[in-house]
Amino acid sequence: MDESENLGFEAMPAKPEAYRVLARKYRPQDFTGLIGQEALVRTLSNAFATGRIAHAFMLTGVRGVGKTTTARIIARALNCIGPDGKATTPTIHPCGVCDPCVAIAESRHVDVQEMDAASRTGIDDIREIIEGVRYAPASARYKVYIIDEVHMLSKPAFNGLLKTLEEPPPHVKFIFATTEIRKVPVTVLSRCQRFDLRRIETDELVKHLAHIADTEQVKIEAVALAAIARAAEGSVRDALSLLDQAMAHDEGDTITAESVRAMLGLVDRSRVLDLFEKVLGGRVAEALGDLTELYDRGADPLAVMQDLLEITHFLTRVKVAPGAEGFFDGGSGEAARAADLAAKLSVPSLTRAWQMLLKGLFEVRDATRPIAAAEMALIRLAFAADLPPTDKLVRDLMDADGAEPRARAPSAAPASSTPRASVSSGSIATARAPQMTQETMSQEKGPAPRTLEDIVTLAGARGASVLKVHLESDIHLVRLEPGQIEFRPGPRAPRTLAGDLAQKLKDWTGARWVVTLAREGGAPTLAEQKREKQAARIEAVAQEPLVRAVLDRFPGAEIVGVHDRAAEEIAPAMDDGGEG
Ligand SMILES: [Zn+2]
Repeated sequence: MDESENLGFEAMPAKPEAYRVLARKYRPQDFTGLIGQEALVRTLSNAFATGRIAHAFMLTGVRGVGKTTTARIIARALNCIGPDGKATTPTIHPCGVCDPCVAIAESRHVDVQEMDAASRTGIDDIREIIEGVRYAPASARYKVYIIDEVHMLSKPAFNGLLKTLEEPPPHVKFIFATTEIRKVPVTVLSRCQRFDLRRIETDELVKHLAHIADTEQVKIEAVALAAIARAAEGSVRDALSLLDQAMAHDEGDTITAESVRAMLGLVDRSRVLDLFEKVLGGRVAEALGDLTELYDRGADPLAVMQDLLEITHFLTRVKVAPGAEGFFDGGSGEAARAADLAAKLSVPSLTRAWQMLLKGLFEVRDATRPIAAAEMALIRLAFAADLPPTDKLVRDLMDADGAEPRARAPSAAPASSTPRASVSSGSIATARAPQMTQETMSQEKGPAPRTLEDIVTLAGARGASVLKVHLESDIHLVRLEPGQIEFRPGPRAPRTLAGDLAQKLKDWTGARWVVTLAREGGAPTLAEQKREKQAARIEAVAQEPLVRAVLDRFPGAEIVGVHDRAAEEIAPAMDDGGEG
């Protein structure tokens, strides 16, 4: 649907020897390639047209929305001299081929300096800039200073910078980028033109991904693209990175939704619908069985909770505005089932389910054993649910209750509603769950991870599904000690992996982590180890006499997988659920 020549992607020479990650290959080179940032483009266009260009820009937004990329495009726009080298004013359409454009894209223009304030926070680091500002640019129209994560600067550094920002020489432009705008002093902010880079809507992201998959001649199911787009949470970079991984993971002709879900630790949505129906029907034992099974198959408890919340939201919307779409593919069997289910549930009970699930989500996220917290949340919800097991008969009881739902906390519900749930009285003791989960919640920072698998589990539990995929597929571990991790990044690893990992580990463990990159060595990635293990098991099974006999008898038969029933049954008892 898009015109590929006009998308403004970098024209890249084909280099077969080195794999070029999609995020880099399709990094936008001018404003036309920058999807979803129309407001910024409009404002800048006006400023350029009237010649009123700010001295300093502040780009804010969550990680992965393209702040650094945008900063470089602005630097190009300021300094482009056109293909014939004759343009004398900044242009909103940098040509991409003149010397300044090329040099800036490769981060090697002497007059365009990039600095990461996360690693250089002090006044001395800034002094270099302050002094350089006095001299005219060597060759460009403007000297451009790009300072990433500017909120990390120390107070003296900000003060030093402020003097320059108050009276900037006409040949200097600053472009700041930050994920935490509130940590930037107002005195600095007030001297910048601010742009809030927004997350890209899922639909928009899906279109973008589809276009790239098409260009790359990769076949991928639409549902798989949607799963990637949702997991990327509005970040084009993350989305491309995940698409990259999906391409590497998948050996078949078409990348399927199933393989993408497995990669992301997501759950088949029809399974979640089953689970939802059982929970709200008060069939606790069955529901817990489903949950365990999903977990054994590698689903993250947090992802399950998120899906349950999404289903609740979807059903509520279907209820108030029939024909609402989104969660399930239109026309699918699930969509029909969902509509059916929505008809049976009352709005008050759906709202209550939403509140309880939301509370459960936070508990799962913060618990040391997320699966346990998820079970507790489902049990609580089942006890408060109003869908009779035999369906059909929706009791007005809950609607009557619903008249004063805000009067009591959702967690108090089990005690006051009729326990219709079909569990043995032994487990009803768990109805006291709220207190226990409160305790679990207080353990915000868990023990330090000791293995890469621990970190993967942690990432899954905290809902960092993108990082989790990279941890499994792109990390050749060299060394891991508390507070220190060294690894060799795989060819598809995003450049931001080390930084992202350091930040997340700090958030999750409360301690500072030093993440070092190695050039060589390192163990096979977890994904590789898993594949090797599976191959070895298949090989071992193939050697068994009975299997050999079958293989001999049926030429062309092959072993596609080995299931270990015993291992699957003990898995739930383990914290990190070994794969089965
Ligand atoms: Zn140019």
